[in-house]
Amino acid sequence: MSLSEYLSKSLSTIKRANWYRQEKTITGLSGAVIELEGEKLVNFASNDYLGLTCDKRLMDASIEAIYKYGTGSTGSRLLSGHRKLHEDLEHSIAIWKKTEKALVFSSGYSANIGTISALVNQKDLILGDEYNHSSLKNGAKLSQSQVIEYNHNNCLDLTQKLDKNRSNYRHCLIVTDSVFSMDGDLCHLPELIDIANKYDCWLLIDEAHATGIIGKTGAGCLEHFGIKNDNIIQIGTLSKAIGSLGGYVAGSEVLIDFLRNRCPTWIYTTALSPADTAAALKGVEIIRNDSERRSSLWQNITLLKQELNSLNMSFFPSESAILCLKSKTAESALNLSLKLRENGFFVPAIRPPTVPTSRLRFSVMATHQSQHFTTLRSSIECHI
Ligand SMILES: *Cc1c(COP(=O)(O)O)cnc(C)c1O
Repeated sequence: MSLSEYLSKSLSTIKRANWYRQEKTITGLSGAVIELEGEKLVNFASNDYLGLTCDKRLMDASIEAIYKYGTGSTGSRLLSGHRKLHEDLEHSIAIWKKTEKALVFSSGYSANIGTISALVNQKDLILGDEYNHSSLKNGAKLSQSQVIEYNHNNCLDLTQKLDKNRSNYRHCLIVTDSVFSMDGDLCHLPELIDIANKYDCWLLIDEAHATGIIGKTGAGCLEHFGIKNDNIIQIGTLSKAIGSLGGYVAGSEVLIDFLRNRCPTWIYTTALSPADTAAALKGVEIIRNDSERRSSLWQNITLLKQELNSLNMSFFPSESAILCLKSKTAESALNLSLKLRENGFFVPAIRPPTVPTSRLRFSVMATHQSQHFTTLRSSIECHI
């Protein structure tokens, strides 16, 4: 079979299953209301939870960094040198996360695959939640460790799998999202720490959807549970609530030193650009010092939950800014998403293979207005 025959055949299978996807073009600034292909829509599809991507302070910091340092960062940090901006950002993240050190990456995805594959290998075991983000799963694959998935958020299943398998491997790494990206629920961090201690495992958590949102200063899941632990490997992204682009790892000094010398997705890639680094630094500073946006976000989460609960429909349990409405089929999720779009709402249908069961996924923003939720409710009510 020729390459194009193979590709066309695969694509038609994807289309038949209603799994086919295409990107859509947004014009103008991003925010709680956007213009998508000429239509003005209330945006429930953004990870910009605090509305920082179009905050003038971040924009100005980016522009200033470009004039000072240029657009590119010219090479990898070890070979070509880095900027004080990179160090300042890492310092700020470490203080916020209450860790000894932090290291920034070009993306959260590359932070995850690089860190996991640097830490464990063929002699080791990875226990991962079945609903973990793609980057955690692919990092596990790349590491060549034995990978076993446990049932979603099920500590009993995790301990049973450890009882059975732990002794056959040298090191064991437990890997989980803290806020699950396609469900919105939270991992059981205190229990996971106990299990990691009991079975002599290391623990890595992905705070992509918790950073900026959960915890008193938005530092994430550890702060939320009141845990200070230097052994936990905390990974996250600079591209969601923080409003920029890039990823980070926060943890002990020796972890960061090791990654700087062993992590291929940090060593062999170009340093984060000055503009992205400066925006992220400003974003982190704003989040650390100003809890008002986070309060607005949580008020909005409560409002949306109230509206959706009154519809008597099935929702996934959520402790974050992500709320998911269950759909029976990929087709029905897609249809509702299209109808909501006709009514002025941008709500993505999330379908297999991204998730096992189809759903409509709402991301709440601090900058949504209360009438966005009431009109959304009426619109859903008309179509169910
Ligand atoms: C978005 C996301 C990532 C990837 O972060 P990027 O910076 O976008 O590459 C990793 N993990 C989770 C859970 C995410 O939701």
